[in-house]
Amino acid sequence: MARRSAPRQSARKAAQTQVAATESKQKVVSVTSVDVNGTSTTLSVESIVDVDKTRATKRKTAPPEPEFDGEEVENISRAKDTKNSQETTKKPAAKKRKTTKNEAEDTMPLASRTAIPSLRRAMYIGAHVSGAGGVHNSIRNAAHIGANAFALFLKSQRKWVSPPLADEAKTQFHALIKEHSYDAGKHILPHGSYLVNLAQSDAAKAAQAYDGFLDDLQRCEALGITLYNFHPGSTGGETMASACARIAAQLNRAHAATSSVVTLLENMCGSGNVVGSRFEDLRDIIALVDDKSRVGVCIDTCHAFAAGYDLRSPEAFAQTMAKFDSVVGLRYLRAFHLNDSKAPFGSHRDLHANIGTGFLGLQAFHNIMNHEPLQGLPMVLETPIDEKQPDGKTVENKQIWADEIKLLESLIGMDVESAEFKQMSEEFQAKGASERQKIQEQVDKKAEKDAKKDAKKDAKKGSKAKKKGKKKKDEDSCDSCGESD
Ligand SMILES: [Zn+2]
Ligand SMILES: [Zn+2]
Repeated sequence: MARRSAPRQSARKAAQTQVAATESKQKVVSVTSVDVNGTSTTLSVESIVDVDKTRATKRKTAPPEPEFDGEEVENISRAKDTKNSQETTKKPAAKKRKTTKNEAEDTMPLASRTAIPSLRRAMYIGAHVSGAGGVHNSIRNAAHIGANAFALFLKSQRKWVSPPLADEAKTQFHALIKEHSYDAGKHILPHGSYLVNLAQSDAAKAAQAYDGFLDDLQRCEALGITLYNFHPGSTGGETMASACARIAAQLNRAHAATSSVVTLLENMCGSGNVVGSRFEDLRDIIALVDDKSRVGVCIDTCHAFAAGYDLRSPEAFAQTMAKFDSVVGLRYLRAFHLNDSKAPFGSHRDLHANIGTGFLGLQAFHNIMNHEPLQGLPMVLETPIDEKQPDGKTVENKQIWADEIKLLESLIGMDVESAEFKQMSEEFQAKGASERQKIQEQVDKKAEKDAKKDAKKDAKKGSKAKKKGKKKKDEDSCDSCGESD
């Protein structure tokens, strides 16, 4: 398979600096590598986090390899004509140009698409692919890995201002959708920009967020796309109720300014200020949305698990689905992000793992694949595909996604008592064992540290204050996310 040249260190540093400069309150934690051809790859992104808490640590430590996963891996790089990448101009001439040039994603697919009628359940599985060089490229990139559904960024997720959707890209998008028989109204799920925080309370910043959000929705409509997924945002330190109200108000405005696109809130796993870690947050936003037909939810399996919603056993999965139904309503569930979790249950860490290798394990995905009400929903992998080469360079291996799609499809109707399933389960678990142990140790250490800190505080405050402090901690149990207060 074609190999891209590896990311350049200097570009990575430049990108980190850019990240550090991201405006307060809504920071994107990402490391973007730009290779010699100007193609860039977001190696790791964690959702909108509370910058005030994170900034200090990030700036000080600035780890070259952050502890996050490859969440929302944006493969901007895949497309050949990366006109979008402003970084291009700054990069020296290519050394291994041929690798990228020859990477025609539509020549030889890594896997063919499974005919949905051949599956016992109509599960549309794919991955978050690149739309670099024009949104139309996402279609070939999806077909290349045998995806029956896919996600993409409609424009650079790291920039506030992007050129308008080019007519040529729009025309090609419609043509390729037809050619590859994707249903843009059902199985394409663009992902919103990480810069946008609809909960922003500052008027100027809220206006900027709204403009970026609305622009994305308008692009969806121009492309015939119905579903649009975004991270709800961050409270910025204000109350969760007021944040939910601000998000709903922005959604109402955006819905009124557009005609058909359905905005999907993604559940999150994060700490204190992150909106959407609890199903109740999603419920509270939806409650204030005027047109309920224009709002829904995308469940990210890794986020749900890390937030404390278990999906592992059939019983736990059924309970979580029942909980979602009673709190939010199953009718709002419109899409899935399929990711295993490198971090343990309830750890509030956002670390995507490859399917079966994480703390969720293969059984969790068997539960999803065999749950009838989920048929027809777009299911999108955001699993890591970066691989370290012997020479230390990192390259993307899209075969991983192609294989994960086939793996998930194979779980439909599979007997979990069968030798085949058990063997697969064990093999994948063994593969992820060291990574799970590493993160488990981090989480344990953090918990220990927090407990000590709490004990110190409590000793100071006396028994009355102690009770109060404990209650507070329970309320923002998300606070165990690695930030100190
Ligand atoms: Zn996700
Ligand atoms: Zn995530």
